[in-house]
Amino acid sequence: MKEHTEVTFEGMMKANQIVARVLEMLADMVGPGVDTKTLDKRAEQFIRDNDAKPAFKGYRGYPATITTSINHQIVHGIPSKKQVIKPGDIVSIDVGCNHSGCYGDSALTVPVEPITASSRKLIDITRKALYEGIKKVQVGEKLGAVGAAIEQFVLPHGFSVVREWAGHFIGHKMHLNPQIPNFGPADWGPILEPGMYLAIEPMVNMGEYQSEILSDGWTVVTKDNSLSAHFEHSVAVTEDGPKILSKRKNEVLI
Ligand code: MG
Ligand code: MG
Repeated sequence: MKEHTEVTFEGMMKANQIVARVLEMLADMVGPGVDTKTLDKRAEQFIRDNDAKPAFKGYRGYPATITTSINHQIVHGIPSKKQVIKPGDIVSIDVGCNHSGCYGDSALTVPVEPITASSRKLIDITRKALYEGIKKVQVGEKLGAVGAAIEQFVLPHGFSVVREWAGHFIGHKMHLNPQIPNFGPADWGPILEPGMYLAIEPMVNMGEYQSEILSDGWTVVTKDNSLSAHFEHSVAVTEDGPKILSKRKNEVLI
């Protein structure tokens, strides 16, 4: 049977707006004493209530709906009753869903006040780096321009960009090729065309870029134990420029 690979802009928007609603809700729930299993349950309920399916659950055996990566955890932390949020934490949450064969994928990092000035700067630079990458999502631009813009924005601030993990194209599957690295030359890769959908996701470390995976087989942490932040949007390439499919209400794009 031929694989169904066509997705529509409207379908991609719908799936990504479900993800956006989840992130809005979870960002409001994050606070001292809250465990991440509670966040995960809320996310799964909302996704299923909206006729969608969690995209991460069961993906290569992953056990949950969201990933929760706190402080030195970069990505892919597994929600747990034992993972309890405390003041000063920075909490990265990643969510994906499948609605009618279209995939949504987005992430953000939430500060748990009071946080340090350096943590605030890390979050701010990572969020802005995502927008710098998104600006390059233009018809006729090369894919490499996205990662190059992210890297060139981040490095002068003294932070590093994670290299072992990358963004990806998205559509009828969550992860489509090619990968979208957050670093490297601008003059690289396929030329962007209308109808392409990119999940752009800078991961920025306060220290060195190297990462390692914990013995749970999932959680990616900084090798030097430094803090890490993560922001992700799914973006459509259109003749009118980038369209952020997973844009949250009240999100200010600066
Ligand atoms: Mg994601
Ligand atoms: Mg992704």
